[in-house]
Amino acid sequence: MPAVSEIQRRSLHDLPFTALAREMDGLSPVHTKALWRALYHETATDLTQRAEFLPPLRRWLDGAASHLSIDHPELAADTASSDGLTRKFLLRLVDAQTIETVLMRFDGRFTACVSTQAGCAMGCVFCATGQMGFTRHLRPGEIVAQVLHAQRTLRARDEPGLRNLVLMGMGEPLHNYDAVMTALEIISDTRGINIGPSRITISTVGVVPGILRLAEEQRPYHLAVSLHGATEEDRSALVPASRRWPLAELIAACRTYGAKTGRRIFFEWTLIAGQNDSPAQAAKLGALLTGLDAHVNLIPLNPTNGFAGTASATAAATEFQRTLRAAGLPSTVRQRRGIDVAAGCGQLRVEKSRL
Ligand code: SF4
Repeated sequence: MPAVSEIQRRSLHDLPFTALAREMDGLSPVHTKALWRALYHETATDLTQRAEFLPPLRRWLDGAASHLSIDHPELAADTASSDGLTRKFLLRLVDAQTIETVLMRFDGRFTACVSTQAGCAMGCVFCATGQMGFTRHLRPGEIVAQVLHAQRTLRARDEPGLRNLVLMGMGEPLHNYDAVMTALEIISDTRGINIGPSRITISTVGVVPGILRLAEEQRPYHLAVSLHGATEEDRSALVPASRRWPLAELIAACRTYGAKTGRRIFFEWTLIAGQNDSPAQAAKLGALLTGLDAHVNLIPLNPTNGFAGTASATAAATEFQRTLRAAGLPSTVRQRRGIDVAAGCGQLRVEKSRL
């Protein structure tokens, strides 16, 4: 365990460029740019030995060392799927909490799936993270650090950098709204990591106030809303958060979001055999989303120990998709990735034995 002072120090990785410049008040912008470049372009993990830092910056860093740190979580485990296309990292944070980050390869391009909380309070019944409960929110720097870890991994293998980022790991991003928005400001900054907003997707289980805030603030990221049921009864059996933000309220918020932003919304639907994969349920989904600019991502259920359901058969998925098409709703059956190393959607869970 780190010393308490280590936990209490603020992290440079929590600060977007303008906040960092404020923190470095009195120094020339040249030094802010040099530090930013080291943090996000070079993905530096040690700022003490950088020859390009000029004396004023070195002196400032020496002075800041007592109250500022950087986020560099320890890699506690690194697991690769048998097809070599997915890697799952278990990262240990400064207070010994552990989170998971997944790196996936699609057609030669890389996507990182990051966590936004340690655990999750939303309790979706088919999700391993939901089954483990909520521990705490992540700071912006702890979200950014996952992206930096993925970038370093790719660089070490001489691979191209990350192309896409999805916030679909452990946690509900809109339950940790401010930290997530700060992290995304850092991650999309063109002077550093530079993953553009159009390549970033925020996934939510349907936190209505967060969706409305995204619309109000005109945030430029893609939005994916997990539905899994097209009636209140069907949905709340899988997604307990539906009791807090009922389906009608959620769809109304999505309509507001669509009208205010003009953006298409992605709806995620985990296909569970015999539970939500019938043509009748597809027809209800089609009716529910009428008039919305929507795309449905169908995800055959990934297995977890805490949920007895099984994935829909390919024929059921095809029929579900056909019914959606007839209702004028485009959809994609998502490729399953990393199932053998529990890195698929809904499978992220920090095993207690590894804590
Ligand atoms: S699916 Fe997402 S929101 Fe639901 S419990 Fe899992 S991590 Fe939380």
